[in-house]
Amino acid sequence: MNESQGFRTKPLDPDFRRDPKTGCYCALCQKDIKGEPRFYAHMIHGCFEAVHPEDREIANAMVVEHDNFGLLPVGPDCARVIGREFVYTAEEAAAVREREATPSQSTTQPPPPGR
Ligand SMILES: [Zn+2]
Repeated sequence: MNESQGFRTKPLDPDFRRDPKTGCYCALCQKDIKGEPRFYAHMIHGCFEAVHPEDREIANAMVVEHDNFGLLPVGPDCARVIGREFVYTAEEAAAVREREATPSQSTTQPPPPGR
């Protein structure tokens, strides 16, 4: 585990050799995911690291936008590789998205670009 940046990450070994056939594929191995993805991970730095869910806000503040990929779907096998601690279920990912889509009253940031 790498804590030198102020938040916990899991180092990953992504494989970009595959060519995904659909728009829904695993961020780690690029295998297509059939149906709705059931697992997500908060990917940064070219998918070479996943952010611990509890440290998500710290990472969002520290990681520059083009290196912060946010929640990306991962396949069940890769979810196991990443580890349950670092993986969001579809329900958890939806809850995070909903929370972040709700404008906070303490900031005046513009809404993030649509994904
Ligand atoms: Zn995968």
